[in-house]
Amino acid sequence: MTDQPARPQYPHAESVEDFALNIADVRARIAAAAERAGRSADEVRLLQVSKTVPEERLLLAIQAGATDLGENKVQEAKRKAENLADQDVRWSVIGHLQTNKAKDVVAFADEFQALDSIRLADALDHRLQAAGRGLDVFVQVNTSAEESKFGLEPADTLAFLEELRHRDSLRVQGLMTLALFTSDTERVRECFRILRDLRDQARERDLIGPGGLSMGMSGDFEAAIEEGATVVRVGQAIFGARSTPDSEYWPGFAG
Ligand SMILES: *Cc1c(COP(=O)(O)O)cnc(C)c1O
Repeated sequence: MTDQPARPQYPHAESVEDFALNIADVRARIAAAAERAGRSADEVRLLQVSKTVPEERLLLAIQAGATDLGENKVQEAKRKAENLADQDVRWSVIGHLQTNKAKDVVAFADEFQALDSIRLADALDHRLQAAGRGLDVFVQVNTSAEESKFGLEPADTLAFLEELRHRDSLRVQGLMTLALFTSDTERVRECFRILRDLRDQARERDLIGPGGLSMGMSGDFEAAIEEGATVVRVGQAIFGARSTPDSEYWPGFAG
């Protein structure tokens, strides 16, 4: 033990240099986790989750190379996409969406990661057809069996993918999940394995295109990569600790 104060777990980034450091640190951890799993770091996409971060700071992150941005709430995402329209950013909406907000996603998003109902799929498809465009989507699965979490039940996922096949504007890229919030890493990994097994089953039935796995956040992305993640969604480790409680994003979450 030393007398030095510990580096904060999620250091706050306020300059281009800070962002460059945090991003480099996360990328190094991604590479190390990939190597441990016998995978290539190139197989893992780093989606930078910028929720609650205002546009001024986002510009610094973008200058440091953060151009693949994820936002949980569609109104906030749409505002940022409009204000930063001159920037070369790919916008991903990663949070629960009400059917009546489908048109907002279609207006600006490149990707939607929380598809979890046929009603929503139809609303998106309808708006996308009208706009003459497609959308990359991930199907969200509730792998932690918590009542409060959004997403399909694992047992319903294959039938859902089957049904999605007829919505041509929705390009299914894979499955997405939020693991259990616990320090018990074995239980966290169990969630990731459930998602991977479902993906494998979907592949056997030819239901899932590239079959990506969006799983892992600041607290658990290394375990997710070891379990096969192809997209990690990292916010706090890049932007700094958030003051907004996570219950704001995931109803029922007590942390
Ligand atoms: C906020 C959020 C993340 C990132 O969480 P961090 O702890 O900031 O890394 C990942 N996925 C979803 C769906 C989120 O809302």
